[in-house]
Amino acid sequence: MKTIGLIGGMSWESSLEYYRIINEKVKQELGALHSAQCLMYSVDFEPIKQLQHEGKWDELTTIMIDAAKRLEGGGADLVLICTNTMHKMADDVEANINRPLIHIADAAASEIEKQGLKTVGLLGTRFTMEQDFYKGRLSAKHGLNVVIPSDEDMEIVHKIIYDELCLGYINNSSKEEYLRIIESLVQQGAEGVILGCTEIPLLIKQNDVPVPIFDTTNIHAEAAVLEAIKAEDYNT
Ligand code: GLU
Repeated sequence: MKTIGLIGGMSWESSLEYYRIINEKVKQELGALHSAQCLMYSVDFEPIKQLQHEGKWDELTTIMIDAAKRLEGGGADLVLICTNTMHKMADDVEANINRPLIHIADAAASEIEKQGLKTVGLLGTRFTMEQDFYKGRLSAKHGLNVVIPSDEDMEIVHKIIYDELCLGYINNSSKEEYLRIIESLVQQGAEGVILGCTEIPLLIKQNDVPVPIFDTTNIHAEAAVLEAIKAEDYNT
C-alpha cells in the first residue's frame, strides 16, 4: 500500500474526517485489520487564515510547499491538501515535489461526470466560489457550468465556514441558511451541489438536499485510498 501524505489542520475539524474516511475506506476495500498507511502534517490554522484574508498568497504558497516537502521527506507516496481553498497553490506545490498530488476539484469533477451532470452549484469559501483555481478549473478543464450564490449569500456561506464550522460549531440556524442558498442554486439550474469546503459536510448531509451533493472531503479522501491500494493484492 502506498503512503498517503495529508496536509491538514485547515481546519483540524475536517482533517479528523479525512483520517476517519481513509481508514474506513481501506477497511472496506481490504478487510481484516487493514488501515491506512499515512502521514499528516498539520498546520496552525490561525496564521493561515490571517494570511488568506490579507491576500498574502505567496507566503501561503511557501508554507504549503514546505509542508508537502516534509511529507515527501517522511515517505509519502502521494500528497493531499486537505482543504479546497488551499488548492489555490496546488500547481505550485505539485511542481515542487516528486510525488503526485490528488487535486480535490478534479476528484469532485470526476464524480460529477460519473453522474452525467452538467450544471452544478458550488459552495465554499469566497476564494473557492469566485476564483479561477477552483470554479474556473471546473469549467475550463471539466466543461461544467458552475452556479454560485449571490454576493450577499456568498458572504454568509464564507462567514459560517470561518466563524463556526472551522471552530466546530454546528448551528441549526446556519444549516437553514445553507439550505435556503442551496435551494436558490437549484432554482438557477443546479442539478447537483458541490460541498466545496471540507467542513460543510459536517453541516449538510445528502438527506437534507433534494439534488445530489458532492462531498469533497469524502470524495478526495476516497480517491486517495483507491490510488494508494491500486493494482496491489491485499488478500488476507
Ligand atoms: N477547509 C476549508 C476549505 O475546504 C476552508 C479552510 C481553508 O481556508 O482552508 O476550503
